[in-house]
Amino acid sequence: MKQHHPRGLSILFFTEMWERFSFYGMRAILVLYLTRETLGDNPGLGWSSAEALALYGWYTMLVYVMSIPGGIIADKWLGQKKTVFLGGMLLIAGHLTLAVNNMVGFYTGLVLIISGVGCLKPNISSMVGGLYKSGDPRRDSGFTIFYIGINIGAATAPLLIGYIGEVYGWHYGFGLAGIGMMIGQAIYLWGQKYLKDVGNFIPASKLEGTKTNKPLTKIDKDRVIVLLISFIIVIVFWAAYEQAGGLMNLYTHDKINRVIFGFEIPASLFQSVPAIFVIIFGTMVASFWRKRQLKGKESSSLFKMAIGTMVMGTGFLMMTGAALEVQDGGKAMLIWLILSYLLQVIGELSISPVALSFITKLAPMKYASIMMGVYFAATGLGNKVAGLVGELATHAGELEVFTGIFIFCLLFGLLLLVFFKKLKALTHGAEEISEN
Ligand code: GLN
Repeated sequence: MKQHHPRGLSILFFTEMWERFSFYGMRAILVLYLTRETLGDNPGLGWSSAEALALYGWYTMLVYVMSIPGGIIADKWLGQKKTVFLGGMLLIAGHLTLAVNNMVGFYTGLVLIISGVGCLKPNISSMVGGLYKSGDPRRDSGFTIFYIGINIGAATAPLLIGYIGEVYGWHYGFGLAGIGMMIGQAIYLWGQKYLKDVGNFIPASKLEGTKTNKPLTKIDKDRVIVLLISFIIVIVFWAAYEQAGGLMNLYTHDKINRVIFGFEIPASLFQSVPAIFVIIFGTMVASFWRKRQLKGKESSSLFKMAIGTMVMGTGFLMMTGAALEVQDGGKAMLIWLILSYLLQVIGELSISPVALSFITKLAPMKYASIMMGVYFAATGLGNKVAGLVGELATHAGELEVFTGIFIFCLLFGLLLLVFFKKLKALTHGAEEISEN
């Protein structure tokens, strides 16, 4: 069944695709730049791995935690539309500052990028929800399409910016990230006419006496509670999933046999695999859930999130397989890694775009952007926990950590399935669809 989406979706799609291009491109070279020797053809900052990973952990947490102030700015002063624009400007300034080779520039650039993502990321996501009226059946698939855009940026950036950064110089890589964000910002400005009122700020004086300005009702409060509880799922999910950039990345480098037809594929290339899987399987997973829903079977967001966590966890069972193979000496087969990423992505597709859509259905109007900000902050917290779990593997061993993640996700998902009906009741039918 072909669905037509509002024109504004393509504007938000391309803006976010370029923003993610700059974000993931810069992320791909950050640790490499920090740890490379200060002398040589393409000098870095000469930090130790531990120092670099510590900065990386704080950075990946803070970019998302800053979504809370980003959401507050939108709800209280600027509205989502202008806050996204502000975020875009900060990001351009941040990436271009990194392109300049000096230490003050380096830290200033990072602060600008953290603030820029905080302003842009949660608000552009809320704007996608704003394209659809409540009960519009296209909302979930709109978010799936948006999520595919994110991953086109995420899949291509490490390859392009990584290559330019490593071969021509880190600062050219950072500069290219800045150019990517400029293209995104230009598309956003050009496309304003298609966004109409979406994301506009409504001043408090205009809200006086309207439904939006009334104190929260019991139903609103219940919905906020269920959202906050669902954010626990989000923390657990990202704490496991974000092993990809750390532990799984190192494991791929050290213990996976990457030789195909006599050629050894560099480990960093596998960083694009999950994003490519999102692009390939995004619509398939969404239409699986949609078909279930049309048949009248359970397919509420909370149910999808519970199943998604378990499927993603099963991905770590594949890594247990790899670790067992390594125990006998030698390296593990590549298929373990590929299957692991595949299962993780199928889980991701049942959680990440679903959660974005869920928030835009449940959050009370006046706190819409802040709730989205809190969601991203939860993913940031998950990223930080992921770093700690990854570190644990250096003491406890990879086999134990991979198996532990699998068992934890499975039990956590089962627990959610036991309670999800109670949680679902707290949404007070927010997910009912009106086919019109
Ligand atoms: N991979 C997704 C993105 O970059 C999700 C990130 C997140 O929710 N923390 O948008």
